[in-house]
Amino acid sequence: MSAQSRAAVLPAFEAPLEIQSFDVPEPAANSAVVDVEFAGVCGTDVHIQNGRMPIHAPVVLGHETVGRVAALGEGMTHDVLGEPLEVGDAVAWQNSIACGRCTYCLVEQEPTLCTGSRLIYGMNQPADAFPQLSGGWAEKMYLQPGTIMVKLPEGITPRDVIPLGCAGPTAVHGVLHEVQINFGDTVVVQGSGPVGVAAAIYAQLSGARRVILVGGPAVRLEAAANLGVGHEYFDVTDGGDTEERISAVKALTPQGLGADVVIECAGIPSAVAEGIEMCRPAGQYCVIGQYTDHGTTPINPHYITRKQLRMHGSWGFSPQHYIRYIQSLPRLLEQFDLASLLTEYPLTAVNSALEDVKAGRVMKAVLLPGRAGN
Ligand SMILES: [Zn+2]
Ligand SMILES: [Zn+2]
Repeated sequence: MSAQSRAAVLPAFEAPLEIQSFDVPEPAANSAVVDVEFAGVCGTDVHIQNGRMPIHAPVVLGHETVGRVAALGEGMTHDVLGEPLEVGDAVAWQNSIACGRCTYCLVEQEPTLCTGSRLIYGMNQPADAFPQLSGGWAEKMYLQPGTIMVKLPEGITPRDVIPLGCAGPTAVHGVLHEVQINFGDTVVVQGSGPVGVAAAIYAQLSGARRVILVGGPAVRLEAAANLGVGHEYFDVTDGGDTEERISAVKALTPQGLGADVVIECAGIPSAVAEGIEMCRPAGQYCVIGQYTDHGTTPINPHYITRKQLRMHGSWGFSPQHYIRYIQSLPRLLEQFDLASLLTEYPLTAVNSALEDVKAGRVMKAVLLPGRAGN
């Protein structure tokens, strides 16, 4: 193992990232060092740079990462599914480790709601404390005990895992675990960013007959359509009337009553009132997209009672959702060319990658820290 690794460090909020070099520690017991092959740039990274998350700088960013085992500490003989691990194996890992001791971890079995101290790679691990290399925007990353690490299934490469980033397992949680989609269902997905695209993919794989994508701008809807994601498209950015859009969506559903399932992935509070109206009586509504707090919004709660809606919330993802995401990839990739979503950057171009994500110029930006000549 080379003794040094370069990493993109956020030195302070509102500042550009800097490339710095760190010593690579030998992995302690139940720990590992990985060579990073792909590291996603996510909307959350923009929020972190802007100082909107309760964390401390300096920090090595990067919470969506895939790579290969570089070194294994004592006891790291198998992945979380019991598969033997060796140096060189392609692996992926969940970006957080819940405390494993609180009521929500142990009794409720909902580690996304952990109230203890939860480690999040690329977010709340400072770059000025051991093991420093705790984010994915680096040539090497140090994985601590308790990391949910999984060897990639046969035929799946690191490049196959990265396009959906944290949106993939987030959609698995909401679409496969919170709501129930039945064969033949009509599903509305609000939002056409990575989470919306992933949600639509899982709705289709679950047997939905018709998936209606309500999002924008047009380039994103076109990218989804080119990928074979969704069947009908509505652009919310074209200045159209909300009531007309609700009527047009309902006209595409059986008897015009509304969708069986509506999944909110827009992240805009006002989308919720519209989504409630698009549900059929006894339909299901799942709010996944309000990941950051953008404030309150008027809704008409009469519709929830009158239609006997089943309302769901879904926050991030836990180990079972992450593993289900990885295990779904062989089937998912038969149908969807996810690599077409990628725009690749060398590690040294980290600031332009972040700018492109901020401006919405790319569907999915990824850094390739291991690529020669970076
Ligand atoms: Zn992310
Ligand atoms: Zn906990």
